Amino acid sequence: MYEHDVIVVGAGGAGLRAAIAADEEGADVALVTKLHPVRSHTGAAEGGINASLREGDSWDLHAYDTIKGADYLADAPAVDTFAKAAPEEVIQIEHWGMPFSREDDGRVSQRPFGGMSFPRTTYAGAETGHHLLHTMYEQAVKRGIEVYDEWYVTNLAVTDHENPEDRECHGCVAYDIKSGEIHGFKAKRGVILATGGLGQAFDHTTNAVANTGDGCAMAYRAGAPMEDMEMIQFHPTTLPSTGVLISEGVRGEGGILYNAEEERFMFEYGYANNDGELASRDVVSRAELTEVNSGRGIEDEYVDLDMRHLGEERILDRLENILHLAEDFEGVDGLDEPMPVKPGQHYAMGGIECDENGETCIDGLYAAGETACVSLHGANRLGGNALPELLVFGARAGWHAAGKEMKAAEIDTGPSAKSEDGAVQPPVEPGAIDAGSEDVVADGAAIEPTAVIENAVENERERVETLLEADGINHANVRADIQETMTRNVNVFREEESLEDALRDLREARETYEDVAVSDPSRTYNTDLIHTIETRNILDVAEAITLGALAREEFRGAHWRAEHQERKDDEWIKHTILAWSDGTPELYYKPVNLEGDEETYEPKERSY
Ligand SMILES: Cc1cc2nc3c(=O)[nH]c(=O)nc-3n(C[C@H](O)[C@H](O)[C@H](O)COP(=O)(O)OP(=O)(O)OC[C@H]3O[C@@H](n4cnc5c(N)ncnc54)[C@H](O)[C@@H]3O)c2cc1C
Repeated sequence: MYEHDVIVVGAGGAGLRAAIAADEEGADVALVTKLHPVRSHTGAAEGGINASLREGDSWDLHAYDTIKGADYLADAPAVDTFAKAAPEEVIQIEHWGMPFSREDDGRVSQRPFGGMSFPRTTYAGAETGHHLLHTMYEQAVKRGIEVYDEWYVTNLAVTDHENPEDRECHGCVAYDIKSGEIHGFKAKRGVILATGGLGQAFDHTTNAVANTGDGCAMAYRAGAPMEDMEMIQFHPTTLPSTGVLISEGVRGEGGILYNAEEERFMFEYGYANNDGELASRDVVSRAELTEVNSGRGIEDEYVDLDMRHLGEERILDRLENILHLAEDFEGVDGLDEPMPVKPGQHYAMGGIECDENGETCIDGLYAAGETACVSLHGANRLGGNALPELLVFGARAGWHAAGKEMKAAEIDTGPSAKSEDGAVQPPVEPGAIDAGSEDVVADGAAIEPTAVIENAVENERERVETLLEADGINHANVRADIQETMTRNVNVFREEESLEDALRDLREARETYEDVAVSDPSRTYNTDLIHTIETRNILDVAEAITLGALAREEFRGAHWRAEHQERKDDEWIKHTILAWSDGTPELYYKPVNLEGDEETYEPKERSY
C-alpha cells in the first residue's frame, strides 16, 4: 500500500494545480493518473483563460457575466470567489512561465469571448491548454511531487456509515497499467478527484477517449451526490466528421457563421441581435440546429464558419492551430474556404457536488475541475471560464486538503442541504443499477483506515479477476449503444418521450453490461480491461444526465425542453441532486444560493 498526506486523482490542469497547492502547504502529495500528465485533456484547450486584468474591467463584471451566462443556476459564493481569485491565479501562471500572447507594448493580450461584456480572455495562440499544462507540470517536477502515471484508479476506499455525511474517505484503489497489479493508496488527509470530463457518454464530442466520467461515477457510488447533471454544454463549432473543436477564439477574432443561403443567420433571423456569433454557446448551438432543421443547413447537417476576411497574417499569428485542425480532420483550408461546423458535446456543467473549498459531503473527499460542480457554471458555462476555474478551485481544494486554515464554505453539500424530494421517473426500477455501494465501502462502520483500503483492494482484485476469466460480450458494443442513444435523445433539443427512450436504452445497456468480459488475457497494458471498467462509469454518468434532464421541467441555459418552453424561476431556481441510495438513484433538490458578497443576484431576462 502506498501512503501520502494528499492523493490527487488526475493530473490535468485541476489535478496539477491542486497538487502544487497541497505542496505549498507542506503536505506530502502524490498525483495518480491514468495518462501521463501532459497528455491530459486540458492540453486540448484552445481559446483562453478569463480574468479581469485591465482597467475598465473588474471582478464583479466578470462575476455578473458568469451568473448571467449560467442562467442564474450558479451559486454566488462560488462565482464571487472565482472572479476575485482568477486574476491572481493568471498572473501567477504567467510568472511560472506561461507564454501568453502579447500586445506590441508587452502586455498580455486579451480577446472577446461569447457572453463576456469585456475582452478578458487571455490566451497563448490557439494552444492555451497545451502551454498551461506544460507550465504547471514543470512546477510539479520542480517541487518533486510524486507522479504515479499510467495508474488507473478504479474505486474509492470509503467507510460505510449509513448517512454519507458520516462517511470518511481514506484512499483509493488503482490498477498499475504497466504491471497489471492492483494496489491501495492511503491518503492521511484527503483524496482530491480531478478526473476531468465525461464526453464519452456521447458519440459526437470534443472530449478525448479518456474522458469517461470516472471521478463522477466513483464519487456517486461512494455516496457523494451528483449535481445538475442535465446541464451539458454543446459547443457550436465542432468539425462534423470527428467532433474536433474549432475554438471560440475564431469567433472572438471576428469569424462569421453562414447558413446554406449564405445568410449571417445569427442576425438575419434574430437569434442574438446584439452579440451575433458571440452570444453564449447554448444560444449559438440552438440557432445552428434551428437553421439545419428549417432546411437552411448545408448538406442537412452543418453551417459554415468563415475566417478568411481576418487575413492570413492575423490568422497565422492568433489561430494557426485552427488551420491545421481544419486541414487535417476535414480537408479544408481555412485561409481559402469556410470551415464546416455543427454543435457537439463539449463540457459538463454538473458533476460531483462540492463547496468553495472543494469538499464533498464525505469527510476527506474533494473534487476539482470539470468533474466537480461547485456550482460555478450553472446551466451554461462561458467560454474561457473552465481554465480559471481549475486554477482557482484546484488550488483551494489542494490547500484545504493539506490543512490550510480557510474561510468556512457558504455552499451546503450532502443530504442535509436537501430542500425538497424529487421523484426518479420510470422506467428505472430498484435494482436497475448494478455495482452497488458495497464494493466501494468497507463492512462495518468506522473501521480502521488501512482495513477500509484493504477491503476495497480485495473487492477490486476480485472484480478484475472475474472480468478477465469470464466469457462474454465485449464492452465496446455497450459503449456504442450508450453513446448512440445519448446523442440521439439527450442532445441540444430534448423532449420527454426521447428522454424516456434513452433511459430505457441505458437500462438495457446495463443489463447487457452484466455479461461483459475482457477478451485480452494479458496483465500488462490491458486497455480492453480499462475500457471495460470505464464503460460502467459511462453508464452511471449517462443515466444521471438523463434522469436530471427528465426531472428539470423548464428551459434554462443549455437545457431545452420541448414541453417546457420557458425558464420557470418561481419553481426551478434549484439544483437537481442525484444521490446513490441502496443501488438506485434518489433525486432531491437544493436551493441555488444567489447571495453574493456585494449584492443578491436578481434573475433577469437573458438576451445577447
Ligand atoms: C477541445 C477543448 C477545448 C477547450 N478549450 C477551453 C478553453 O479555451 N478555455 C477554457 O476555459 N476551457 C476550455 N475547455 C474546457 C477545459 O479545457 C476543461 O474543462 C479542463 O481542461 C478540464 O481539466 P481537468 O483538469 O478537470 O481534466 P483533464 O485535463 O481532462 O484531466 C483529467 C485527468 O484525470 C486523469 N484521470 C481520469 N480518470 C482517471 C482514473 N480513473 N484514474 C486515474 N486518473 C484518471 C487523466 O489521466 C487526466 O490526467 C476546452 C475543452 C475541450 C474538450
